[in-house]
Amino acid sequence: MAKRPVDLDRLWVRPGTKAGLSSRDPADTHGINRSGAEKALERQIEDLVRLQHVLYAERRRSVLLVLQGLDAAGKDSVIKHVMRGLNPQGTHVTAFGKPSGEELDHDYLWRCVRALPRRGSVGVFNRSYYEEVLVVRVHPEILADEGLPPEAGGDGIWDRRFEQMRSFERHLAENGTAVVKVHLQISREKQRERFLARLNDPAKVWKFRLEDVRERAFWDDYQHAYEEAVSATSTDYAPWYVVPADHKWFARLAVAQILVETLDALPLAYPQVPEDELPRLEQARVELEAEERYSTGASSAASRMTSSSSKLP
Ligand code: ADP
Repeated sequence: MAKRPVDLDRLWVRPGTKAGLSSRDPADTHGINRSGAEKALERQIEDLVRLQHVLYAERRRSVLLVLQGLDAAGKDSVIKHVMRGLNPQGTHVTAFGKPSGEELDHDYLWRCVRALPRRGSVGVFNRSYYEEVLVVRVHPEILADEGLPPEAGGDGIWDRRFEQMRSFERHLAENGTAVVKVHLQISREKQRERFLARLNDPAKVWKFRLEDVRERAFWDDYQHAYEEAVSATSTDYAPWYVVPADHKWFARLAVAQILVETLDALPLAYPQVPEDELPRLEQARVELEAEERYSTGASSAASRMTSSSSKLP
């Protein structure tokens, strides 16, 4: 296992404590520089690949990484860089945007339940059910259009939703899904720069949405909603990490390390071959070795035929 360069304790929100977002620095890099972070990322990815291999072979557990952050916090870029190298058969990324009509016809967890990773897989939620206590809290008119029965809304709804999320995550954890949650925290100034960069780059302008700029007017409301949500739902079984994301290279390294440590904490093991299967495996080995000698002979016979036929006029 490679060294763990990021001090994850500083990013972790200890259960029962406040996230303290306003006192965290989104530009923090824990004294690591860009080239150091890029090299360290490669080593974390190597560890991740090894651990994913066992997770996949064992097929008993899964890992769910929930990624939340404001627009331009770098969620897509973290996914692209951290997941590269992993076996695509054992990973599943789902992005959650505005709910469709069909999704609104169900409770808010429904679409997320359908996207949960299967045993042996790493699932990533690019946004998640947490939007229900973030954008929906900042814009109560969204809640009014969710079609809820009156008793499901009203006073205390955010605390009830926090409780529902904790219960949901406890259920997942107790049934073999390790849940880990990351809030990519960017500064207001960095978001402005990234929006401008999108506008000024033909390869990025497709990502630009005027609505995202309008949301900046609600910056403080989002900070408050994140503070409340992260503080209320960081638990032993589904912890939150607040990752400084003004430097994308630091955020990628931190998230890779969070995933490595999450997988490493699981009691993963390759499936054991039962003792009484061993003679049959030995038999298979003998048969395969014999077949290899046979096919080598067959292919040289085939090549002799080809070379002799090539001599025909
Ligand atoms: P992104 O901005 O992450 O690249 P999209 O533009 O497709 O992706 O969609 C994200 C938008 O959908 C965000 O503005 C987000 O707040 C909104 N959204 C996500 N979940 C919900 C929800 N449950 N209710 C309302 N809006 C949501």
